[in-house]
Amino acid sequence: MQPLTRTTLCLALFTALPAAAADPVTALHCPALVDTVSGKLLGASTVVIDGNRIREVSAGTAAPAGASVIELPAGTTCLPGLMDMHTHLTSETNRDAYSEGFRLNDADIAFKSAVFAERTLLAGFTTVRDLGERGGGVSVSLRNAVNQGMLRGPRIFTAGKTIASTGGHGDPSNGARRGLMPDPGPENGVINNLDDARKAVRQHYKDGADLIKITATGGVLSYAKSGDNPQFTVEEVRAIVDTAKDYGFTVAAHAHGKEGMRRAILGGVTSIEHGTQMDSDLFPLMKQYGTWYVPTIIAGTFVSEKAAAEPDYYPEVVRPKALAIGPKIKGTAGAAYKAGVKIAFGTDAGVFPHGQNAREFELMVQAGMPPMFTLQAATTHAAELLGVSKDLGSLAAGKFADIVAVPGNPLQDISLMKKVSFVMKDGVVYRMP
Ligand SMILES: [Zn+2]
Repeated sequence: MQPLTRTTLCLALFTALPAAAADPVTALHCPALVDTVSGKLLGASTVVIDGNRIREVSAGTAAPAGASVIELPAGTTCLPGLMDMHTHLTSETNRDAYSEGFRLNDADIAFKSAVFAERTLLAGFTTVRDLGERGGGVSVSLRNAVNQGMLRGPRIFTAGKTIASTGGHGDPSNGARRGLMPDPGPENGVINNLDDARKAVRQHYKDGADLIKITATGGVLSYAKSGDNPQFTVEEVRAIVDTAKDYGFTVAAHAHGKEGMRRAILGGVTSIEHGTQMDSDLFPLMKQYGTWYVPTIIAGTFVSEKAAAEPDYYPEVVRPKALAIGPKIKGTAGAAYKAGVKIAFGTDAGVFPHGQNAREFELMVQAGMPPMFTLQAATTHAAELLGVSKDLGSLAAGKFADIVAVPGNPLQDISLMKKVSFVMKDGVVYRMP
């Protein structure tokens, strides 16, 4: 759990005020409401919000005496705040992205990330996992600034820097000439033995991360030849997972190739990200270990579309990987759904422009998932993956008041998820129809 710094701050400010300055009560009138727990679309409903929590959800359009009322337009459907389990808020794709590491200071990255965070929130994503940052500790500072109410952004659970092996997807010195930067070690997220693995996790604890991200195989966008080779031993993954447990961290594993994915699952990671070559050999293993799958179909789709349309957009070493790996994720995601693998919503935002996250819903439906399942993947399932089901993922008494709305019925037209018209996070309204 992230610390409730903002609430604490508010309480500190209010102690000097008279008792009458209690948190305001708001009644939100929803023409329709998605109950993500039962998987049902409910009719007209009222959500009563007291401070930053939901006090009650009831049928019809009542309002407690003295409550301020928000009347959403006819046809609008309310949902729990959306949760994206794979973002990169400290970077965004562009033609010059591969030289940014040589040009941008942490302050440049921080200002950009503030803009990306706000765009993400206004698109309806009130909670994200940030899985691999650029800049020293920028994602941690961004999370803290949002929690303190200084910036507009989602609730951020950050993995800080990705943990990789030398030359692996996530080695920050990839593509740079020798001598330009020192050989990175566990302090910079690069490990090559069990001691390094433990040190890297403990460094993340020291740096203020919320969870761990590893790159179990090669990746599409890194400056390296293979997009799918295994990059950790099972023992290294186990050392990371076991140490992570000491600090209450879960472990997310980027993986495209089968062997690296198999080692990550056996090593006990919490989720597999992308999972491109996951198939009937690995589906049973995923289920046996209770491993979550976060497909990020939009990332694969975007990079393959971009590489085909603009041949010089990515470096020459990246382009063939984008064309080969990108288009495969959708088929894998559909097959994993059919096989009964646990799926949570995630996009890899930053690989495509921030704020377009909701296109993933359309792609999940195209992959063969029912619209309601995709909404649950982005709410109840994501909350379960994060271990925050008590507070997030559904509209129910006692939960945080994270509520969004779309202009119509998303079960009939999933593309409406791209047109979020109302956003409330922690009881504060950020977007009105
Ligand atoms: Zn990613």
